[in-house]
Amino acid sequence: MKRTFTLFLAIVFAALGSYAQTSDPVVDAIVKEANENSQLQKMAHELFDKIGPRLVGTPQMQQAHDWAVTKYGTWGIQAKNEKWGEWRGWERGISHIDMVYPRVKTLEGTQLAWCPSTNGKTVTAEVIILPEVADSLEFQKWLPNVKGKFVMISMMQPTGRPDYNWEEFGTKDSFEKMKKERTEQTDAWAKRIKNTGKTNQTLPVALEKAGAVGIVASNWSRGFGVNKIFGANTKKIPTVDIALEDYGLLYRLTESGTPPKISVLTDSKEKGVVPTFNTIAEIKGSEKPDEYVMLSAHFDSWDGGSGATDNGTGTLTMMEAMRILKKVYPNPKRTILVGHWGSEEQGLNGSRAFVEDHPEIVQNLEALFNQDNGTGRVVNISGQGFLHAYEYISRWLNKVPEKFKDKLETRFPGSPGGGGSDFASFVAVGAPGFSLSSNSWLYGSYTWHTNRDTYDKVVFDDVRNNAILAAILVYAACEDPNKTSREKSIMPYNAKGEQSKWPEQRKATRKGGLDQK
Ligand SMILES: [Zn+2]
Repeated sequence: MKRTFTLFLAIVFAALGSYAQTSDPVVDAIVKEANENSQLQKMAHELFDKIGPRLVGTPQMQQAHDWAVTKYGTWGIQAKNEKWGEWRGWERGISHIDMVYPRVKTLEGTQLAWCPSTNGKTVTAEVIILPEVADSLEFQKWLPNVKGKFVMISMMQPTGRPDYNWEEFGTKDSFEKMKKERTEQTDAWAKRIKNTGKTNQTLPVALEKAGAVGIVASNWSRGFGVNKIFGANTKKIPTVDIALEDYGLLYRLTESGTPPKISVLTDSKEKGVVPTFNTIAEIKGSEKPDEYVMLSAHFDSWDGGSGATDNGTGTLTMMEAMRILKKVYPNPKRTILVGHWGSEEQGLNGSRAFVEDHPEIVQNLEALFNQDNGTGRVVNISGQGFLHAYEYISRWLNKVPEKFKDKLETRFPGSPGGGGSDFASFVAVGAPGFSLSSNSWLYGSYTWHTNRDTYDKVVFDDVRNNAILAAILVYAACEDPNKTSREKSIMPYNAKGEQSKWPEQRKATRKGGLDQK
């Protein structure tokens, strides 16, 4: 009955009240250690404040790998950095961006990742806005106008207030009107780019070739004072992101016929080809050393902030869980591993490489728990399409005291995740990888890939909660007398009668960014 039920229905139920409490000295010791001897704040300071963001190919990424190995060493846990590929080496330097005409104002902005250096010089020039052209021919005719100018390639946002602020204080009519106008403007801007015959990626390169001295963009993240910071496409001239407020200022001045002048200095260093790693740590199993329970969180980040919640908090959750387990459960029945993956942000590359390189581990994986969506308490676990996940995950969750699974919902069998984070690299090959999914804390707008993903956004109580949850799940999975079933549920049919497919394994990119130089 249960089988049929889990087969055809995705059952959602609140764990709260669904499980009986068990008394277990190891669980008690996990909770005690996490609460009385937490290392989370200390680690957060060392990793987010001292080392900083962890963009693939940067010296900071390497420092972070070395820091983690050392940290595990101090806890008596074996750890190593495992090379899986190579990347363009680059190091972020100073960004200075100022408006110098018609008045002086220091602008809030920064160079994008992999931005070329201005070679110690400050470049001062007028700005020009990408115009509306009918087609690529007209664009080519206009293109010589960019010579010696900074080119603004982003739309000016009509409001710097996030929607929740409009909803709270605006009239319904004005909120609706703003949204409608913004949508029209956004569509028109997409058309403006399209009409040039270029894409967001190729447009900066065309402007650079035509003699522009820099690219000015603004990638607003729909919250107060928050922008997403990704990578530059230019090869010689700087690409900077400017905060919504200052971008709007420059845009309005230009439109009103007083084109401002700005000064830009970007330092950065090209570091050639550098190796990329995963940090892997291990607590050897005593009874079934060749069966594995794994913790997982990507270690790399974008570099507009310090990668505190993407995925610093996932990283600390797993490190703290390992520390606690080593202390209170030093002889697990199965081997406990943790993967701190490199280059997740460019396509789950570290974890995909691990899956390719370690079939012996993947084949004997009892379970993997990944966390990668912010600082919040874990509130969702999906069975990822595994038919019997219901049985074993429920059994393991049984061990978790109510307090640490408050509002936690499970979904079984769930559907297999095709991406999003590193558990998907395992699910793709039919190995039981699960995502410990957090509540939002407005992750999507405020911290995910933004310039505000910093220490102060971490909610340490929630991270501690998650470290306890992860440690207990690992403990329970290590003790489970059964091997987890990998039987897949029957994939659902869509309205057209087509059956959806299990996600396919995708190859890791082992050489990254090297063509961009
Ligand atoms: Zn992430």
